[in-house]
Amino acid sequence: MAIKLDGKLVSSIIREEIKQEVLEILNDQEDRAPHCAVVLVGDDPASSTYVKNKEKAFKDVFMMSSTYRLDNSTTQKELLDIIHLLNNDDDIDGILVQLPLPKHIDSKVIIEAIDPNKDVDGLTMVNQGKLYSGIGLEPCTPAGVIELLKRYEIDLAGKHCVVVGRSDLVGRPLSVLLLKENGTVTICHSKTSDLKAITQQADVLLVAIGQKQFITPEYLKEGVVLVDVGIHRHLGKIVGDCDPSCYDKTSYYTPVPGSVGPMTITMLLKNTLKAFNL
Ligand code: NAP
Repeated sequence: MAIKLDGKLVSSIIREEIKQEVLEILNDQEDRAPHCAVVLVGDDPASSTYVKNKEKAFKDVFMMSSTYRLDNSTTQKELLDIIHLLNNDDDIDGILVQLPLPKHIDSKVIIEAIDPNKDVDGLTMVNQGKLYSGIGLEPCTPAGVIELLKRYEIDLAGKHCVVVGRSDLVGRPLSVLLLKENGTVTICHSKTSDLKAITQQADVLLVAIGQKQFITPEYLKEGVVLVDVGIHRHLGKIVGDCDPSCYDKTSYYTPVPGSVGPMTITMLLKNTLKAFNL
């Protein structure tokens, strides 16, 4: 019987733990709660929804967040100036730039402009590098996946963990964190030949490819732990990179929505707390 890895439930437990820590900070007469600046450029509806969810999540754990909603016509220079101001503001602990940015802005330049100690998304090169030594702010989605597996006491040591996808945001950092947990890690991508032959060997299969319901039961070994990072809007619903028909073949699976998504936001809260304490 496949067990659902309930990221919503686990998130609510972790958020309660975070809330208690924030209350302790406030009770200790610290002058303020941890504070994250969220920068949103343009009017992409999905990004606006993500930002609203993040604002609510900060509020629920008594943290502060300030959202900078900028016009689509904002130039790269103007955005860099804002990042610079936020870097130098002692009342701001974390900075998050909602991606994707409009096409005329180079995301890499913007991300690299963020002070690594305030980079709560864990995306700067400094934090990507620090990931290898287990320090710094970890990228939220991969960190959320590992935390979810740990909360269900799924031991990764010695397991064959197959990651499908090698993006800077998910696949690559996730592979590093799996290795840190003593998994035996294989990374696949769009140039991998005979993907199915590799995924069928996975004890833990983690999929972040951005292809709607691409993974079907034929890709799985019986009893696999299946983690679906994908998010797509399809016919008014949210679906993942894996077809739900996969679930019956697994021992544990992450439903979409309601698993990796909430964990990602929870890790953002954790990183903001960590940045406050740096
Ligand atoms: P991305 O930057 O587009 O990267 C996709 C990766 O998948 C690339 O490495 C690509 O290979 C690989 N790939 C694409 N098609 C493939 C195929 N048919 N077979 C094997 N590999 C394939 O995407 P991303 O940012 O990592 O995001 C992946 C998914 O996760 C998206 O659906 C995104 O919306 C979702 N996501 C969810 C959360 C969350 O909080 N739940 C957070 C972030 C992202 P190449 O490198 O060879 O091109």
